[in-house]
Amino acid sequence: MPGRVVIVGTGIAGAAAAQTLRKDGFDGEVVMIGADRRPPYRRTMLTKDLLSGRVDADRIPLRSADAWQTMPVEIRTGTWAADLDPVGRSITTEDVSISTEDGSITTEDVGTGARATLDYDALLLATGGRARRLDPPGGPAWPGVLHVRDAEDALALRSRIGEAVGAPGPRGRLVIVGAGLIGCEVAAVAAAAGVAVTLLEAGPRPLAGTVPEAVSEMLADLHAGHGVTIETGVQVTGVVGETDSDTSGKGVSVVQAADGRKWTAGVVVGAVGMIPATELAQSAGLDVADGILVDEYCATSAPGVYAAGDAARFPDPFTGGTCRIEHWNHGQAHGAAAARAILGNGRPYREVPWCWTHQYGVNLQIAGTPQAADEWRTDGDLGAREFLSVGFAAGQEVAAVAAGRPKELRAARARIGEHLTWSGAPAAAR
Ligand code: NAD
Repeated sequence: MPGRVVIVGTGIAGAAAAQTLRKDGFDGEVVMIGADRRPPYRRTMLTKDLLSGRVDADRIPLRSADAWQTMPVEIRTGTWAADLDPVGRSITTEDVSISTEDGSITTEDVGTGARATLDYDALLLATGGRARRLDPPGGPAWPGVLHVRDAEDALALRSRIGEAVGAPGPRGRLVIVGAGLIGCEVAAVAAAAGVAVTLLEAGPRPLAGTVPEAVSEMLADLHAGHGVTIETGVQVTGVVGETDSDTSGKGVSVVQAADGRKWTAGVVVGAVGMIPATELAQSAGLDVADGILVDEYCATSAPGVYAAGDAARFPDPFTGGTCRIEHWNHGQAHGAAAARAILGNGRPYREVPWCWTHQYGVNLQIAGTPQAADEWRTDGDLGAREFLSVGFAAGQEVAAVAAGRPKELRAARARIGEHLTWSGAPAAAR
């Protein structure tokens, strides 16, 4: 049994791992480090409750400071894992001095703080990821574009939405690029607050690949009913700043599309996916390919080093290939699985993924691998937002999407799990 487990990352995968270590009786040291200045919090609340103002930031922590201390789990916030030495089993940490007014961390904050070395017996990389930026990498940042990944981002957007409410002309408008889960949830919150929202999506429909076409249409109707304009097939090529001379002089952004169309807005949100944080693993020589490669026990290619959550690419028990999943519930389950593996009680990871989204009072649950489905069968009434759609691939249930039918969704998820045949896909090299 290891003496000290170090967890890099204070998101849900890291937090679930720490809790599982204690729950399963580990009595060595558990140290979690994270660049975030906050201890673990509920990221699921960011684009729903926190953004809408239904709750404040004091309501988002996963556990109280006392609860972590009692376990005990030592949490070092504002701490960056700068280097990993997998042979010597140590990491070099660096204090992050946050330079931005809103407390968010930029790359300029890294490289200047005090450094320290932390030895480990087992290391879990639960490093998550960052928002994929709308502007092309390496070029200048597009003006006025916000992205949402952490609590500080959500609070900044909340205040910008507040400023847009009732503002005249383009300053009262919000353009969101990307109609995925973040884009749709932000649109719902902003529209409910009374802001004029336009949702621009490169694909053919909102949440394409995540829900069947009929459910996309239902969602599009729901948004339209709340005044949101959805434009699909839009390739955004640039965002430029324009001064709104009628007002206090605050900037207005012009979003430009490949086909020449333009939209002006006081607030622009880029919601175009995330990028896994693999730099630490990669610079240490671990196997990385759009995620830190792990086997079915969350073990990376370096002895004693594990990875879990958004940042980890693991064997997919459905396809026999590999996959990376970015949902809260997966982070929770994968982090717990890594902790059990660290304690020598691991079993192959084969959870059926699921997530939920909440928009205008409608709770949509999604399970399995929707993008694999070649046929969908729906029972219920989409218009009444009370239905279960089951997705099949070659006649086998692989996904389910439901609103107002939580029990049936759970049952479908269990059936999908029964169908999973562990293919014995080759594990990542240990
Ligand atoms: P996403 O992958 O869900 O959606 C991104 C969307 O942006 C896609 O529809 C894509 O077609 C579109 N897009 C990409 N590039 C574009 C471009 N240049 N112009 C226009 N559209 C473009 O990503 P997200 O919504 O940013 O969310 C990030 C991650 O956070 C996802 O993994 C998501 O699952 C997760 N998340 C989950 C929940 C939930 O479970 N309820 C909520 C929020 C976020």
